[in-house]
Amino acid sequence: MGLGSLFKRNKKKKTKEEVEESHIDIFTDGCGGCEKCVIACPNNVLIMENDKSSVNNSFGCKRCKVCMAICPNDCIKVN
Ligand code: SF4
Ligand code: SF4
Repeated sequence: MGLGSLFKRNKKKKTKEEVEESHIDIFTDGCGGCEKCVIACPNNVLIMENDKSSVNNSFGCKRCKVCMAICPNDCIKVN
């Protein structure tokens, strides 16, 4: 195996799921567990997990940013 093939192997392309997951950032340290974002999301993208908001279905997200707007702690960012 030459260096060329090693390089190619390490440069693994991101799967669609990895790319999709990165567009919703939840800063869980700041999450107070109020559940407002989970209730407000029209597409059921978010769930509560151990009293923190968590992304359950990023494919369903329409980037409406309602969750961002409603979070009192400003801990959600949708790109
Ligand atoms: S941007 Fe809209 S669809 Fe996406 S998680 Fe937030 S509320 Fe749900
Ligand atoms: S609205 Fe903000 S503080 Fe409340 S559960 Fe969602 S991320 Fe956490």
